[in-house]
Amino acid sequence: MNQLAIRKGLNPEDNDYRNHLIKGFEGEQKFDKLLDELNDEHLIMQDLSLEINRQTFQIDAIVITGNKIMLFEIKNYQGEYTFHENELKSYPYGNIILNPLSQLNRSCTLLRMLLEKIDINSPIEGQLVFINDFFVLYRNVEQRSLLLPQQIRKYIIQMNKQSVPVRAAQKACADRLLRLHKTEDRYIQVPEYTFEDLNKGVYCPKCSLTLRKKNRRTAYCPHCGFFDLNTRIISNEIKTFSLLFPDYDLKTSVIYDWCGTFFTKDSIQRTLAKEYIEKGSRKGTYYVKE
Ligand SMILES: [Zn+2]
Repeated sequence: MNQLAIRKGLNPEDNDYRNHLIKGFEGEQKFDKLLDELNDEHLIMQDLSLEINRQTFQIDAIVITGNKIMLFEIKNYQGEYTFHENELKSYPYGNIILNPLSQLNRSCTLLRMLLEKIDINSPIEGQLVFINDFFVLYRNVEQRSLLLPQQIRKYIIQMNKQSVPVRAAQKACADRLLRLHKTEDRYIQVPEYTFEDLNKGVYCPKCSLTLRKKNRRTAYCPHCGFFDLNTRIISNEIKTFSLLFPDYDLKTSVIYDWCGTFFTKDSIQRTLAKEYIEKGSRKGTYYVKE
């Protein structure tokens, strides 16, 4: 989405969606860091995409311990909200937010069904985590499955105190879930694009403006001062290209065009040869990951 924003531009709706994804991603990263404080008696899995009875569900984080499985839904909302009769509303305007608690309940139910199917019996506990320090919630009833920014650390300390050591059964459960994880599932809706649609060039990873050559081996950003070795920039451009065009062959000439002729074909070819496996005949050489 970031590359499409730089190379094509996004309409306001897609741009809002991109910002929403970035916020969500930042929230999950922040929570992952907090989970680092858990002791060895916890198995942690992040960002799982699972399926049961043709229903797909995403889980931000799962923590397995000796006596239960904890499922976390992370929200990076910011601002003031009210929670009343199972409805989350922005305050003071009263706009209803797609109820994250029902989302959490759905995930818990589907995970329970999935575990039953693979003969794993363990209590499941769901927690909705509001991770943003600027999130304020007004409510009149205490909700146990709801964790506010100020409560997270205490909750994690509590988890460490109450944890029961993981045994072989829990490790097997984690393995099973990882194997069921659907990596190919793209649940992010990306606007359509073609190779021709996109601007070619090399852009600053920090501020997205066009890079310039510093000398034969490095390039820099005149705007923010970012600089890096050409080889590393080429390597990242190849990764970006294959992310956006997974079905295209990796060829020197294609990457050369992709980078807007910024680098020489020789240096691109060297990077491809170093990091990928060469295939094809001399004229039709292309590169693959493995
Ligand atoms: Zn920059």
